Amino acid sequence: MLKVKFRRIVIYSTLFLFLALVWKFVFTPTHPKNLLLISIDTLRPDHMGVYGYGKDTTPNIDKWAKSAAVFTNAATAVPMTHPSMAALFTGKDPAKTRIISNSGLLVSENNKTLTSILAQNGFFTAGYSTIGSALDQGFEVFNTHEFKSFYYNGAKAEYNERFTMTERADYEKFILSSADILKSSKDGGRFFLWVHLVDPHAPYFAPGGLRCKFNSKFCDEISGKNLEELEELRAQYQSCQNNPVPQDRIELMEALYDGEVAAADRLVGKILDNLKELGLDKNTLVVLYGDHGEGFDHNYYFNHRQVLYDSSIKIPLIIFDPAKGRSGEKSDVLIQDVDILPTILDFLGIDYKKGSFDGKSFAGQFGKFSKIIPAPRKRAIFANSYFSKFAIVRDNLKYIYSLPQSCLLESWHEELYDLVADPNETKNLAGERTKELGKLRDDLLEYLSDYNLPIEWKSNEVPGQFSTEDDSAGDLRSIGY
Ligand SMILES: [Zn+2]
Repeated sequence: MLKVKFRRIVIYSTLFLFLALVWKFVFTPTHPKNLLLISIDTLRPDHMGVYGYGKDTTPNIDKWAKSAAVFTNAATAVPMTHPSMAALFTGKDPAKTRIISNSGLLVSENNKTLTSILAQNGFFTAGYSTIGSALDQGFEVFNTHEFKSFYYNGAKAEYNERFTMTERADYEKFILSSADILKSSKDGGRFFLWVHLVDPHAPYFAPGGLRCKFNSKFCDEISGKNLEELEELRAQYQSCQNNPVPQDRIELMEALYDGEVAAADRLVGKILDNLKELGLDKNTLVVLYGDHGEGFDHNYYFNHRQVLYDSSIKIPLIIFDPAKGRSGEKSDVLIQDVDILPTILDFLGIDYKKGSFDGKSFAGQFGKFSKIIPAPRKRAIFANSYFSKFAIVRDNLKYIYSLPQSCLLESWHEELYDLVADPNETKNLAGERTKELGKLRDDLLEYLSDYNLPIEWKSNEVPGQFSTEDDSAGDLRSIGY
């Protein structure tokens, strides 16, 4: 009798243990071990195949994205490099950090960054930056390269940019040397590798084979031109323009820009190949992100920082999660760059205090029950660099509020666009849908007031941080762009 009882106990215990193990295996989330963040400067999603572009500019990214998740409604809070990257690295609203320009403050040591959080959690951290060292906080290894660095010259910075250009071969070697980190991390602990590519940022000067690949009608015109000559073509039209830029010149710049996008795509392909060859693709979360777009429309050309049309603020965002795998599915939930940090931490299984960030995680979008998890945000607020234009997006409507002095405007200005019916934002509905406009305006002004931002433009100074005079401080190459 005792023997039977004992046998039963053994059977039940074994069964219980077995079920517990099954439960653990099925329901315990698995997290990728490592993180690879690839950021590409000035990359417009609508110039990429995976986002529907008709030209084959991004074959490597397109192929890789077939096993990833593609976010089609992601945007940067401020369409300028350092503010955008700082928003990603801190998960905090630029209105709070006041990092709104490339010459603004560095990320305060009081702010934890993606890097410092991962370092605290035992990650080895390495950065390969072509935008200076402003975001080096927390990195154990941080390498910089000055390809396409530029400097401002005096107060009229917007119109006096001058670029330097080191050899592309040096730049490519620099980017691909990030593989050294992968090799040394292969059998070690967790790592975070950040690589920032700068190809699509002006000056548009793609390698010869790509320069007129995407519009052959310009081959004769540009084949013999050097960097300075091509730059002159762009610079004469860049930023705010009183008169429309001839369509032919826009097409030329788009062809040159597309060549740069393709050059970046080649490098991304090689980085992803390196990851795969080392078998690290099986346990590395890969986030591909663009910091802002580029203007080829409205009254704003071949630049990005001043206006808040989708061409400047929309960003590509593609996430590969080796634990779950995806099939190129697309999500149109509204996401801002501040949402990326908490999302990455959720993916990696790293705890953080609720309320640590202004951004909200959208990792749930990848979960089993993604359909019942709400989008991270119902509205998004945007500001241009220097805080002279603000926008709010909600329910497919975008309201833009411009202070005098911002990009050719000498008086107050309001715009309202229906982003679904009119994705190119060509028809200003401000005079028609006044009730909806009023609600959005109230919301936006409340936000500006909460953050002590300029509802009235009284001076060139944003409270607490920024003075335009900072721009005349000389060579800002060390800060990058
Ligand atoms: Zn940028």
